[in-house]
Amino acid sequence: MRTDALIRALYRLLPEEAVLTAPEEVEPYECDGLPAYRRRPQVVVLPWTAKQVQKVLAFCHAHDVPVVARGAGTGLSGGALPPEEGVLLSLTRLDKILALDPQNRIACVQPGVRNLAISEAAKPYGLYYAPDPSSQLACTIGGNVAENAGGVHCLKYGLTVHNVLGLRFLTLAGEEVAVGGEGLDGAGLDLLAVLHGSEGLLAVITEVTVRLLPLPESARVILAAFDSVIKAAEAVAKVIRAGLIPAGLEMMDRLAVEMAEDFIHAGYPRAAAAILLCELDGFAPQVQEELALAEEVLKHSGAFLVRVARDEAERQRFWAGRKAAFAAAGRLSPDCYCLDGTIPRGRLAEVLEGIAELSRKYGLRVANVFHAGDGNLHPLILYDAASPGEFEKVERLGEEILALCVRAGGTITGEHGVGVEKLNGMCYQFSAAELAQFHALKRAFDPQGLLNPGKAIPTLARCVELGRMHVHAGKLKHPQLERF
Ligand SMILES: Cc1cc2nc3c(=O)[nH]c(=O)nc-3n(C[C@H](O)[C@H](O)[C@H](O)COP(=O)(O)OP(=O)(O)OC[C@H]3O[C@@H](n4cnc5c(N)ncnc54)[C@H](O)[C@@H]3O)c2cc1C
Repeated sequence: MRTDALIRALYRLLPEEAVLTAPEEVEPYECDGLPAYRRRPQVVVLPWTAKQVQKVLAFCHAHDVPVVARGAGTGLSGGALPPEEGVLLSLTRLDKILALDPQNRIACVQPGVRNLAISEAAKPYGLYYAPDPSSQLACTIGGNVAENAGGVHCLKYGLTVHNVLGLRFLTLAGEEVAVGGEGLDGAGLDLLAVLHGSEGLLAVITEVTVRLLPLPESARVILAAFDSVIKAAEAVAKVIRAGLIPAGLEMMDRLAVEMAEDFIHAGYPRAAAAILLCELDGFAPQVQEELALAEEVLKHSGAFLVRVARDEAERQRFWAGRKAAFAAAGRLSPDCYCLDGTIPRGRLAEVLEGIAELSRKYGLRVANVFHAGDGNLHPLILYDAASPGEFEKVERLGEEILALCVRAGGTITGEHGVGVEKLNGMCYQFSAAELAQFHALKRAFDPQGLLNPGKAIPTLARCVELGRMHVHAGKLKHPQLERF
């Protein structure tokens, strides 16, 4: 459909202020948290109600117009990149907490509600929402469901999928569907799980019912510092082996410690090659007992410093450094690229060594700050996009690092999704038969292929092309992919 006709039609469907077309209005929607991929949207719509969303979708369905849903745009894989032609549908104005039921410990919220806003609303009742991506101040619950977001607390309390009880969503045809409910399981096929991590490809989420947990009586964090990354990585496995399930078990290497310390002054020891933050929460006597065990394990693992945060202020400072580590990278480098791969915990040491080797090979600095307890790595590659050819080098390094994760028995994404960034990786992670099933599922929801087209599931043709490249190894763009 021609741009002017599309815009005229949208003005007929929605109030004027809900349709953005001027270059300066649509520019902020060009990219998500991965600015290496950008596209100017033809038009952005910002509806206030689910009814208005429904009208937009029904129109797009009837006129074959592509539509991309967007939350806060903090995604790190280009999932909310606007379509070449079509509508960018922002859900941020659907930001109401519809119900909060402390008795049943649930909340029902619109998709544009920010992750942290749920815990803030629940706090007066002694409750909170557990999944806590580091972007929680900004990211929306709709985006969290679409990416199946994780966070520091997910080691103990699970990912988004483990904390959402029900959803309402709209199909592209504008039909409203409710799945799940207020209980732990419902009848029928598990569409609730299918929608988690569906990256806006299947439907537009319009309501989310989340589980709330009681705020822990006590939460204590231990900082453990090591003179080698390997010792720190091995300590992670030992903590879990000791029977502990920390509320968070995070690792930062030397570069990440330096970046965070310069920025936040969290009190991290600069002499450390790596630090671990190990948080234990629950009833006070139990936390005390677990704290003693964790301290012992960390000391026996070779930590040269093991310190329990003295008070709540110090605990908050320790976490502030971790949570601001990505932002701190901006002080050191004009650009950075955050990867997201998962590996079995027991392989952390060798994979981190491999990343260090690759960093030397490419001459690019890589900081590691990540959810170590889940084996969810976030290598942060520092680079300068203004330097010709540097981003291409970064992409090759990124692919080699993810190849390393897959070879170690891991995956090409832990929590940031595939988006446009990891389409090639999908070709190597999954077989043709598996990808065909993903396509069949997509077609069942969206036969016209209009919802977030070109994202998350690579075309088989793309994979075949990569496969052909695989055969003619001499012509491989990224020969390392051969080893996936
Ligand atoms: C500094 C920083 C730290 C981060 N830390 C973490 C972390 O610890 N853990 C983690 O998991 N992620 C993290 N992220 C990534 C990101 O915040 C998450 O992926 C988050 O879930 C994205 O939410 P959003 O509202 O910004 O979604 P967007 O980026 O706007 O969209 C993400 C995807 O969801 C789809 N989508 C959005 N809303 C809807 C809807 N209502 N219905 C259907 N589809 C929809 C979009 O089409 C897109 O594919 C971080 C990002 C940054 C910038």
